[in-house]
Amino acid sequence: MNKFKNKMIQFMQGRYGNDAFNQALFVIALILVVVQLFVKNILLSSLVLILLIYINYRTLSRNIVARQLENDRYLRLVKPYQLQWQYRKTHKVFRCKQCKQIIRVPKGKGTIEVTCPKCKTKITKRT
Ligand SMILES: [Zn+2]
Repeated sequence: MNKFKNKMIQFMQGRYGNDAFNQALFVIALILVVVQLFVKNILLSSLVLILLIYINYRTLSRNIVARQLENDRYLRLVKPYQLQWQYRKTHKVFRCKQCKQIIRVPKGKGTIEVTCPKCKTKITKRT
């Protein structure tokens, strides 16, 4: 068993491995597999296969910088939604329309005017 473990470590050396983007792709693939139980569609099956191949390609890739850039792009895209979910009970999270800065304001304060900390644009928002 130890020999196999060492072989695996050696094989994965210099390869990218797993990240948040891969995990999200895997969840999408799993959802598609469940949908596939009810809807038989060759296009759906192909999509699942392509997704799984892409996930493996990313995991085993030696171009670590490119994979990190993809992951960064993904994280930048989902960050406002993660914050919205994280602070859903106490804050309202949105992006500045001018500079895309993520802004978080407390809930239940009525209609307020917020100044973007980055570009100083004034935004009126219901909280
Ligand atoms: Zn701004």
